[in-house]
Amino acid sequence: MAVAHRLFRLFSPWTAEKNNLSSLLIRSLSSSSSHGPSLDPEIDLKEAAAELEKSSSSSPSSSPSKGRNFHWVFLGCPGVGKGTYASRLSTLLGVPHIATGDLVREELSSSGLLSSQLKELVNHGKLVPDEFIISLLSKRLEAGKEKGESGYILDGFPRTVTQAEILEGVINVDLVINLKLKEEALLAKCLGRRICSECGANYNVACIDIKGDDDSSPRMYMPPLLPPPNCESKLITRADDTEEVVKERLRVYNEMTQPVEEFYRKRGKLLEFELPGGIPQSWPRLLRALHLEDDKQSAIA
Ligand code: ADP
Repeated sequence: MAVAHRLFRLFSPWTAEKNNLSSLLIRSLSSSSSHGPSLDPEIDLKEAAAELEKSSSSSPSSSPSKGRNFHWVFLGCPGVGKGTYASRLSTLLGVPHIATGDLVREELSSSGLLSSQLKELVNHGKLVPDEFIISLLSKRLEAGKEKGESGYILDGFPRTVTQAEILEGVINVDLVINLKLKEEALLAKCLGRRICSECGANYNVACIDIKGDDDSSPRMYMPPLLPPPNCESKLITRADDTEEVVKERLRVYNEMTQPVEEFYRKRGKLLEFELPGGIPQSWPRLLRALHLEDDKQSAIA
């Protein structure tokens, strides 16, 4: 907690009110490259909101096609596979996949006081302060705008109701995909996760085989996803993928992020998707649930 407080102080210009956070996010969501990322409190919120509304008018039931401005969010417990499916959809739909966990890890790899304080939170399975994550996300969106990006698939954001309220205040999220997996598989998947330190690809050495209790809950089998020979010797494990920290991340998810599911459920934006097994089983079903079957020829099998 002490670390969280120090981080709050470091971000003091943005810590006072939620409104300040909103304007920070609005600025990066709405500004053009000529405006730059200043923190001018005189921002015209109405104008920014109107600009954002134009690009977000669909509903979960609509059948999206390539080239639209998707504003999608992936929710789900640690280890469920948000990154895997968000990244595949990003390739399929041609919109960027923005994972706040990746943004945090990039920040961690830089040196300095902030990075070491951040590391303490992340490596203990805690969330980083809302101000901090919104600031990181804003910077990423700003950079994307400059490259001409429109739309995105967010993975790992929002993770608190405050973050969800702020996002909802500045953009109309079209769809929130809530991935679900049996709890016993989540821990095994996090512990089995391996990342190639060179190319960043994700693998998993766990072989998950959970027998169904009865006929209505079938066996779930997820084979390992092993690395190709060129990645084999470069595999690393995330520092927060230890048993103790994963259990804490699951606890924090239930406490802080489950209410976000309810937030979107009430607004009719939540698509619940229970993963039936590994990628070969789950990916085609997810495409069907998203009315994206027509695009599956171009999808990676
Ligand atoms: P997970 O596998 O637990 O879903 P992520 O890779 O998404 O992990 O995130 C790693 C860590 O980064 C989190 O445990 C948390 O400390 C921090 N983090 C990522 N996104 C957020 C967020 N939206 N709010 C607060 N902290 C975040």
